Amino acid sequence: MEISQRNYLGLDFDGVIADSVLECLLSGLNAYAVLTGRGGRQISLVAIPAETIAEMRRLRNYIRSGEDYVYIALAMDRGCVIRSQNDFDRFVKDNIHFKSAYYDQFYQERSELLKTNPEAWLNLNPLYPGMAKFLELIDDENLFIVTTKEKLYVHKILSANGIGLERKNVFRAVGKMNKHHIINKLMVDRKLNADQIIFVDDHVDTLKEVASTGVECILAAWGYNTLEQRKEADDFGIMTYQLKEFLRLGERFQIHGISELKSS
Ligand SMILES: [Mg+2]
Repeated sequence: MEISQRNYLGLDFDGVIADSVLECLLSGLNAYAVLTGRGGRQISLVAIPAETIAEMRRLRNYIRSGEDYVYIALAMDRGCVIRSQNDFDRFVKDNIHFKSAYYDQFYQERSELLKTNPEAWLNLNPLYPGMAKFLELIDDENLFIVTTKEKLYVHKILSANGIGLERKNVFRAVGKMNKHHIINKLMVDRKLNADQIIFVDDHVDTLKEVASTGVECILAAWGYNTLEQRKEADDFGIMTYQLKEFLRLGERFQIHGISELKSS
């Protein structure tokens, strides 16, 4: 196959490859505990009641950035009712003065947990079922990752799962260099057409932006999104895939039989 004819699969990381929600919630809770001086750092969520975790998981659907996990802790502490993306965005805006402290402390807590307890950190960042096999089987040249997560963490989680993706195929969206800019640049740098690329993300607003590049966009239903957000994607002409449908997509990349796998 001519390189120019090759198909490329671009993947978001959190909510597509890895189910990182528990690590993020724990880092958010620890950041909030440190900043408010209430409670100590935890290395697991075992002390947190199941219904609290369920509520935090629900609020995860509205997250746009790392510091938002600390806003989740604040919202829950204050007993604020958040029922939609608008509610969450308004809540963050009303408390915007905390933003940079939340940002710094959230990332500080993540690196602290990784440094002091790498095994606990990795256990809180499992890959979705079938994903490790999929990533192991897909040709490195067909794959790239575009994420807001620090590349160091992406590589640590992947290599703990036996996946050694080349560094040149992992891109971090940060500041003005957001995901659709990265994909546009990739198309220019590697001389690719939009119809050679499929991009999968679990965040509908991100996909609406990336769709402007002309690449095929798919919303990951197994990630962090609500029924309303999936409906919004549908209204915008963006398809939603279940995990099994995604794994079947592997056939386009010469990965066969993987959708039958029960787990990674
Ligand atoms: Mg995501």
